[in-house]
Amino acid sequence: MIYFDNAATTQIHQEVKEEMLKAMDLYGNPASTHIYGRKSRVFIEDRRRKIADLLGVKSSTIFFTSCGTESIQTALTGAVRDIGVDTIITSALEHHAVIYNISTLQKQYNIKVEYVKFNNKGKIDTDHLSELLDNKGKKMVVLMHANNETGMLLQLKKVANLCKEKQSLFLTDTVQTMGKYRFNSIKGIDFATASAHKFHGPKGVGFIYISPDISIQPLIVGGGQERKMRSGTENIIGISGMTKALEIAIDKIDENQEHIENLREKFLSGLIDLSSELKILTDIDHSLYTILNVGFPKKNRGSMLQQRLDIAGIAASGGSACTSGSESRSHVLEALEVDSNYNFIRFSFGCFNTFNEVDIALDIIDDLI
Ligand code: PLP
Repeated sequence: MIYFDNAATTQIHQEVKEEMLKAMDLYGNPASTHIYGRKSRVFIEDRRRKIADLLGVKSSTIFFTSCGTESIQTALTGAVRDIGVDTIITSALEHHAVIYNISTLQKQYNIKVEYVKFNNKGKIDTDHLSELLDNKGKKMVVLMHANNETGMLLQLKKVANLCKEKQSLFLTDTVQTMGKYRFNSIKGIDFATASAHKFHGPKGVGFIYISPDISIQPLIVGGGQERKMRSGTENIIGISGMTKALEIAIDKIDENQEHIENLREKFLSGLIDLSSELKILTDIDHSLYTILNVGFPKKNRGSMLQQRLDIAGIAASGGSACTSGSESRSHVLEALEVDSNYNFIRFSFGCFNTFNEVDIALDIIDDLI
């Protein structure tokens, strides 16, 4: 089996598993004032500080959540309900966690939603964004740092500067880039999101960065954990695993990037050698190095390719949901108006992938197409 679906989720790092096993012994409730509770509290605050240090921000700006979706919903709801944002500027290429949360808020609060233009590879048109930012209203820009289907990167600094200059809030969904990109300090960003399972940590734990200038109310209320920002007894085991995973990711960021870039390059040139008819959707020079989205012509046995790859032992993502044998395209592929005669497959690589796997996958694809 070859796993080329690292944008969907990743294998947990062995050291992360060991760290989580150790954390299982810390069973005191962090809210308890006795020694058991205090030990758990110190442990969590130490992990918060480690994550904050890795991002170059203050500990008080990091709040633990259950996943990327919860982090996104916390930011969106807080911005509209508590800060009075009445206009959201976003794109049709965002993750469903953004799109569906925005449409819920639109119904609840009657906010205006404006969509920024992009090119045929998904590159956000910053001139259009700038125009939209000139409109009246209390605005928030919501744009993902890297697209999970195409890998396209946002011009993060440029957009952050525009938002600052035009007095808009800025939420960027960093679920795909956390651990793969050096944020150093998150200047100009009001909200950023993370999900541990995307960087070789466990599922069911994430965090949100909230700028110190921002004040919002919680999404989940109750016992007042996370300085009243997110109630519910903390997921100590998850937080321990996520912190370890982020430490490893940042520690090895350069070597992992080089390795994965080389894997993607070898795979891409191998594919191009196999067929001159492929459409490379990913903009190689402006994308997150882990993602490669390629269109295979359906006429040359390219249809149902993802399922056939699966049977042959390669896990990749189709970018489409297959219902009762008929393929319906993802909203991202639809929005990019990609050629419907092509079947687009997302291959996404991680640090555990090898060059040998690339060779084997190319042989299999050669047979399949
Ligand atoms: N945002 C992006 C870009 C993603 O890729 C994902 C996961 O696929 C999410 C948000 C949602 O993260 P989670 O599944 O942890 O809620």
